[in-house]
Amino acid sequence: MKPNDPYYICPVCGCNKLEDPPYYEHFAGSNEICPCCGFEFGVDDFDCVEIDMKQLSDEEIIKQAHEIYRQNWINHQFRLFDPSMFRESEKTGKRLNVDVALKQLQSINCRT
Ligand SMILES: [Zn+2]
Repeated sequence: MKPNDPYYICPVCGCNKLEDPPYYEHFAGSNEICPCCGFEFGVDDFDCVEIDMKQLSDEEIIKQAHEIYRQNWINHQFRLFDPSMFRESEKTGKRLNVDVALKQLQSINCRT
């Protein structure tokens, strides 16, 4: 990614390295995988087994899937899907540094 390219923020982890908007019209996922939390938009949301899909709108399904996935990511100590996308100062091994992770989560208004 070039510095001047537009980027998009992952609604799951707050990482700002997405090359496409995570969703298009009518909640159609981009199929991009977040390099940070590994969420695949349009796949991991509608395939999330913990959600009872029948009662919910697409918007509600996506929202719940994001929350579940975010919690998993936090529980796994901010494991990175693609560590090569992150600077050495941002990560420790294959995990995002806690201060970076917390800043990301704050940027999408998530308390931890
Ligand atoms: Zn993410």
